[in-house]
Amino acid sequence: MDLQKEAKKRKIKYFLISYVDFFGVLRSKLVPAGSIKEMQKEGAGFAGFSTYLDMSPSDPDMAAIPDPKSLIQLPWQTDVGWLAADLWMNGKPVASSPRVMLRNQINRLAKKNMNLKSGVECEYFLITPDGNSIADQNDIADKPCYDQSALMRQYDLIRAICDSMIMLGWGPYQNDHEDANGQFEMNWDFSDCLQTADRHVFFKFMVRTLAEKKGLRATFMPKPFLNKTGNGCHAHLSIWDNKGKNLFADKSDNLGLSKTAYNFMGGIINSAEALTAWFNPTINSYKRINAPVTASGATWAPNTITYSGNNRTHMIRVPGSGRFELRLMDGATNPYLLQAGILAAGIDGIEKKRNPGKPINVNMYKDGHKVKGAKKLPLTLEKSLSHLNKSKVLKDAFSKETINSYIKLKNIEIKKYNSSSNKKIGFKGSKQSIKKNIITQWEKDNTLDC
Ligand SMILES: [Mg+2]
Repeated sequence: MDLQKEAKKRKIKYFLISYVDFFGVLRSKLVPAGSIKEMQKEGAGFAGFSTYLDMSPSDPDMAAIPDPKSLIQLPWQTDVGWLAADLWMNGKPVASSPRVMLRNQINRLAKKNMNLKSGVECEYFLITPDGNSIADQNDIADKPCYDQSALMRQYDLIRAICDSMIMLGWGPYQNDHEDANGQFEMNWDFSDCLQTADRHVFFKFMVRTLAEKKGLRATFMPKPFLNKTGNGCHAHLSIWDNKGKNLFADKSDNLGLSKTAYNFMGGIINSAEALTAWFNPTINSYKRINAPVTASGATWAPNTITYSGNNRTHMIRVPGSGRFELRLMDGATNPYLLQAGILAAGIDGIEKKRNPGKPINVNMYKDGHKVKGAKKLPLTLEKSLSHLNKSKVLKDAFSKETINSYIKLKNIEIKKYNSSSNKKIGFKGSKQSIKKNIITQWEKDNTLDC
């Protein structure tokens, strides 16, 4: 696609050439349409050190080369076109840039004539601009899930977001009020995993932007309120061959899954503790997984590395034939590392024929203690990072250097948190003083816009 011609045709005056760093922060340059011809070829220049990629000030410029297939015309600002870019340096793709990391795993799977299709369920809260409370003061029910009135009080915004997705051809099909006061979820069609990752990045940008326009603030923070359900980011996964056949489906199996599906799942279960460092990447994330029961009666977040049929208390749920749902990730996860991590672990599962074990059919929130030998999820970010550090699977897939860079940057973040004053309680209504049992001001300042 020739972006210059496209700009003329669609009346695009400016392009946002963007990339996402390790921490999922969206970085961009705004480029006038007159310069896009050159940028499409050479890329937009960025100083890598200025973002979370573990680069040094002496490194040469990175070039963000836009992927024309990712073009999204901002529905609320149609003179601007958004482009996801791949990072290049010294004439080579930057192996430690998240979108390139995902591409490399896609290519690994493509060599087996397979591709991953996925869909994500991004939960978010609508809060006041100062971040102190949920936006709708009337949204106070103990069991607010699917509450029609609370949903319709946000109709203006929800409609603006959903209309945008319709306009963009994403196939949105439902919107609801979720399990916590002030929490919402919107679902659109699954597609190939690179497209889902690009849309996931754009969705977060879009929700935040449109909420701001209505005088609200949207947050994907994993656990903004201690006593309420947190923001998950579940993914539905299936592997297809090049002819469009779902390789995860097998009607003869109890749960409707093929051997390939079980092996892929076995790979994810095998690497789950290490993946937690990517899927639950913030200090705040560990207040969502392993959390005590919330006001609504359940956290909906997993606490063990187990799978089951249609039972939402496990890390993996099989809702029907030909796919499964991974429920580990939270709203802070990097959209590219989400898909790349699933692929790396899943491909390892296929190659090593990893066995996920037997499905477990108990309510893990109630009877989890009775399940013998179930692996537990790491309790802190430090523990997750030490699992990541030990993961041969992920180091082989992404290189030692890349994994070490990620760990290094996250450790700097942990240090900042530990040295910050955590006495200030971020949200009203929390009386406990133990750090584990409060949402600190530091978490709020650093995670609300994750
Ligand atoms: Mg949900």
